[in-house]
Amino acid sequence: GRGRYYAYSTKLAEEIETRRHLFQQITRALSEDQFEAYLQPQIFTDTGAIYGCEVLARWRHPERGIVPPATFIAAAEEAGLVDQIDRLMIVKGLDLLEEFLAKGIDLPSISVNASPQTLRDPHLTDRLLQDVHERLLTPDRLTVEVLESTLIENDDDVALRTIEQLAAAGFSVVMDDFGTGYASMSNLSRLRLSGIKLDQSLIKPVPNPRADSIISALVTLAASLEMKVVAEGVETDQHFETVRRLGCHVVQGYGVSRPMPADTFQNWYADYCGSQARLRTGSGRRA
Ligand code: C2E
Ligand code: CA
Ligand code: CA
Repeated sequence: GRGRYYAYSTKLAEEIETRRHLFQQITRALSEDQFEAYLQPQIFTDTGAIYGCEVLARWRHPERGIVPPATFIAAAEEAGLVDQIDRLMIVKGLDLLEEFLAKGIDLPSISVNASPQTLRDPHLTDRLLQDVHERLLTPDRLTVEVLESTLIENDDDVALRTIEQLAAAGFSVVMDDFGTGYASMSNLSRLRLSGIKLDQSLIKPVPNPRADSIISALVTLAASLEMKVVAEGVETDQHFETVRRLGCHVVQGYGVSRPMPADTFQNWYADYCGSQARLRTGSGRRA
């Protein structure tokens, strides 16, 4: 009836309006440089040495303060703007890496998130090669994190070819949020990935006999495919000790540090390296 039609069209109009508003806001945020790169450290479980950092987007909103990606990545994806955010994080991340190395902060690598849209760019590999070479860096300094949902949706196609090209060019490609999707296993067999990142949901229950068994089996599987395993969402000492014992190579999580702005990271780095050195000389305990 008329009433129902009216309600429907209003809801639709509202949705279109919200979407248009977000599109405008994100476009404006991009042009006003409101997106910032936060860094979260990743640590080798065997030596405690720093493996690298994941670059995570934050929106420094003029009124709302620091806005986490959960509130804008999906909207940016819908608006077709997420590739611009990805691009920005790659550039900011590599700029920081270059700056750190010049200052003697020897960060081995950075990891960036690549949305499906970004992976659909057939020139991505060339662009990234140019990005690293411009800064006198090498491709092994950059890890590209891809979501397995990308790979399910694009069975054909450009994204798969891009991943092959990235690997062939010497970039690391890891599968993010591993263990949450459907296509994990088939993707492992058909792609040359350098590693998998175990999703937080797999880490949360450990130590626990069943959860530990799953991690252990995934570590064995990864090893036979010559892939490294990163455990994400490591929050406690127990998490750390368990995933280390089960053979995960690298950890990332609040237990090491929350994601932080670049200047905070530099202080964290100095403190962390100091505590590692004290540990080596036997004058301190692990932080
Ligand atoms: P992700 O790629 O899985 O990143 C890890 C998320 O887990 C981050 O959330 C991080 O802060 C959080 N995390 C790390 N350690 C712990 C822990 O010990 N416990 C808990 N509970 N959480 C932990 P964040 O920064 O809010 O990012 C959320 C998601 O947004 C990311 O998940 C990623 O999918 C997306 N994202 C962030 N930056 C970008 C970007 O530049 N481009 C794209 N396409 N997506 C991004
Ligand atoms: Ca990620
Ligand atoms: Ca993840």
